[in-house]
Amino acid sequence: MAEEKKPVKKKKVVKPYEKRRACPKCGPGVSLAEHKERRSCGKCGYSEKK
Ligand SMILES: [Zn+2]
Repeated sequence: MAEEKKPVKKKKVVKPYEKRRACPKCGPGVSLAEHKERRSCGKCGYSEKK
């Protein structure tokens, strides 16, 4: 009996974790929220232009 060809397993492409900028005020534990033109911290309100 011929062996059935195994379907090629699709390699799951793992996206490299998007590095988020940490809030300079709150520290590395708090990342800034991404906006179109800026990033902002929801904790302290810090924001910076991209
Ligand atoms: Zn902050």
